[in-house]
Amino acid sequence: MTEKKVYPPEMMEKLISLAKRRGFIYQGSEIYGGLAGTYDYGPLGIALKNNLKNLWWRMFVDGRDDMYGMDAAILMNGRVWETTGHVAGFADPLVECTKCNRRFRADHLEDKTKCPDCGGALGPERQFNMMLSTRVGAMEDSSAISYLRPETAQGMFVNFKNVVDSFHPKLPFGLGQIGKAFRNEITPRDFIFRLRELEQMEIEYFVREDDWQRAFEEWRVAMGAWLDLIGIDRARTHEVDIAPEDLAHYSKRTIDFEFDYPFGQKELYGLAYRTDFDLSRHSEASKVDLSYYDEATGERTVPHVIEPSFGVDRTLLAVLLSAYTEDEMGGETRAYLKFHPRVAPIKAAVSPLLKNKPELVEKARTIYKALKAEIPQIIWDDNGNIGKRYRRQDEIGTPFCVVIDFDTLGENPELLDTVTVRDRDTGTQQRLPIPELISFIKKEIQ
Ligand code: ATP
Repeated sequence: MTEKKVYPPEMMEKLISLAKRRGFIYQGSEIYGGLAGTYDYGPLGIALKNNLKNLWWRMFVDGRDDMYGMDAAILMNGRVWETTGHVAGFADPLVECTKCNRRFRADHLEDKTKCPDCGGALGPERQFNMMLSTRVGAMEDSSAISYLRPETAQGMFVNFKNVVDSFHPKLPFGLGQIGKAFRNEITPRDFIFRLRELEQMEIEYFVREDDWQRAFEEWRVAMGAWLDLIGIDRARTHEVDIAPEDLAHYSKRTIDFEFDYPFGQKELYGLAYRTDFDLSRHSEASKVDLSYYDEATGERTVPHVIEPSFGVDRTLLAVLLSAYTEDEMGGETRAYLKFHPRVAPIKAAVSPLLKNKPELVEKARTIYKALKAEIPQIIWDDNGNIGKRYRRQDEIGTPFCVVIDFDTLGENPELLDTVTVRDRDTGTQQRLPIPELISFIKKEIQ
């Protein structure tokens, strides 16, 4: 077995502080003291998140012939959650300290009798439902109760028939969607790992029953290819086959994709074979026939389902942790984010070597505008001296810094209309003719 990679000490503190300072992720409602389990994404955080969501959509929806995208409402008819068993059973075991009244998830405690905070005696274990309920409409009776969805998956099952009727897809095919989900976690913790408001990217892939093993394997491999695409450190990922006795009641096989976070090896994604559980239950409860007429076999069956499920926030955390690097450059230690250029929130920063030379500034502005028109995630940065700019861009993971100097203007005639392009990881610079700049960056960010 290869040894686990070691994180620098206080890794989470360093990452949380960088994420806040540089505008990636802020505590939710911070000026009011926060709201546990919520975080707000700042300008660079949303840029990173959008890049990841767009890459996911391209790889798993637009890039395939057998996938259909959709976007269901967060609020759903309360009966959906009765049918799925969420109302009765989407619960975690909760224990409360009899002394300080703090609450804990019993399955996260080593000693279930003593409060880990104050040492007081813990009360009896009970099931705590994690669905966040809300009231819809002006009525005050129980029929108005609805829930903020705890997963995006059900929005796809309830639209199965709609998509089949509109598009007549042949098996196997899938639905994919990205959206918010809500879970009233007993103990939200570990930054954006365990949130109460989270985002998911999920796929329900419908197959003939006898085809599930092949499809499961295909998705297992595809999930690995996704991890590679976005630069998640594969030395830190693990595929864990869930033991039969630990499987959810509807699943016949589940693999958890786990990641070595600084706080332990924990779930990043899940891949589950959900049999025909969901469609059958919804058919029964709604009295709407959700079976599928298979032209190839002439049979009417309820398709079985493979569900690859990706948490957006955990993806960001794993990408940030994989990218965080400390090294020595120019005799100083530097901490920087070694993002793959395709996920980096900013692809390149453009600056004039000196900001008090109008001729440099003017030329740099022209180049900046041309680049930005083609590659929107480009910024202008003329703050401080060039060394400071590099340091700042390294810290937010900008792969390239483009600098316009006197040679660009022809001080050395051979270098007329060339710029320097500095590489974030090595600190080395190369000179590129201006006309090649756009294609150079475009190729790197593919
Ligand atoms: P855990 O065991 O860590 O609570 P889970 O098994 O309940 O997770 P799933 O129900 O399989 O998670 O949800 C699918 C995906 O959604 C997870 O793999 C994870 O990426 C993400 N996810 C689930 N709960 C949270 C949460 N509270 N905060 C952030 N992401 C979450």
